[in-house]
Amino acid sequence: QRIRVGVIFGGKSGEHEVSILSGQSILKALDPEKYIAVPIGITRRGEWVVGAEAAQVLQEAAQIQLGGPPEPSSIDAGADRDAAVGQPGAGPHAVPASQPGETALTLVPPALVESFDVVIPVLHGPNGEDGTIQGMLELFDIPYVGAGVLASAVGMDKVFMKKLFASAGLPQAAYTFYTRKTWESDPEAVLADVEAKLGYPCFVKPANMGSSVGISKAKNRTGLTAAFKLAAKYDRKIIVEEGLNVREVEVAVLGNDEPKASVPGEIVPSNEFYDYNAKYVTGDSALIIPAPLPPDVTEEVRRLAVEAYRAVDCTGLARMDFFVERETDRVLVNEINTMPGFTRFSMYPKLWEATGVSYAELIDQLIQLAIERHRETR
Ligand code: ATP
Ligand code: MG
Ligand code: MG
Ligand code: MG
Repeated sequence: QRIRVGVIFGGKSGEHEVSILSGQSILKALDPEKYIAVPIGITRRGEWVVGAEAAQVLQEAAQIQLGGPPEPSSIDAGADRDAAVGQPGAGPHAVPASQPGETALTLVPPALVESFDVVIPVLHGPNGEDGTIQGMLELFDIPYVGAGVLASAVGMDKVFMKKLFASAGLPQAAYTFYTRKTWESDPEAVLADVEAKLGYPCFVKPANMGSSVGISKAKNRTGLTAAFKLAAKYDRKIIVEEGLNVREVEVAVLGNDEPKASVPGEIVPSNEFYDYNAKYVTGDSALIIPAPLPPDVTEEVRRLAVEAYRAVDCTGLARMDFFVERETDRVLVNEINTMPGFTRFSMYPKLWEATGVSYAELIDQLIQLAIERHRETR
């Protein structure tokens, strides 16, 4: 008997395009002898579509040319999200909004989702990687690939992620954080506080985001002001970290109770840091697999990858991002990504391939892990 797999891709977040590319790769790789794969698209406006319309969303992939990072107005954050609350049409069972241009989530019949043996939510960023869709799938009692509600939510919120990493004794960059309100009510005080606590250079980030959207490196007060203004467009919470002089290393982790770490890979960004353009637009950032690190540093990174994964109670998969200090080779945890990019060219599958797990095998394992986790948590 073939397993019915729903693959959800697209979504309202700033990482819509990347998600379509990941979804398309997974759909192509699902062996038709083992699986009945059903594409489920979520449009930029948040409408759920299946059948011909889902195919249409997928076809966007052919035309996708990633330009600059997405504008905050096109993503579900801040004011945009507030505006959707309480509007007719909000909520998973709502009736589609009738007025054109209105933000709406269209009908998602539980019957649709419930007809799957397992769902792969290949969504990145807010409303996909953050526990919201995971919560919906829990309600419908459907096994799904990846982290559960808690780990997804914590992994998306860089402040709480760091608090948990700290309580597990994991090494990381010094940081501080502010709400948008604090920033807007007294920018001078916030700037002075950052300068006193961290100095320059520092990195300013929306707390909940991915793909480097809204992130800046600030080298002075003018840069810091601009960085806060940008980050505040994407989130109500802004995190600032000390700027490190580092190499960037990533590890793929796979598993539930006994997570395994892949060989590490190194990223050599084509820009001053690994920003949105260096990730998706210029295409000339280099991925070096395995990362050319001394053996003890490699072991340290792999060990910390599993510890950090456990620190947020992650299951299924995650790509763990690290910094290795240039002078000292000291390893610092940067972050967890609970639903990393999943095209054939993405770091996560490439790391497993280099470790001996093919793309198709990886998907088989993820589906089995989803089913096991569902069995154990009910
Ligand atoms: P992802 O696409 O991996 O989800 P993200 O949006 O969650 O990315 P981060 O990984 O936190 O963002 O940061 C993006 C990039 O910014 C890093 O890969 C690195 O190049 C740079 N960076 C972030 N924080 C620091 C820091 N504290 N010191 C030096 N560089 C940093
Ligand atoms: Mg991230
Ligand atoms: Mg991410
Ligand atoms: Mg990262």
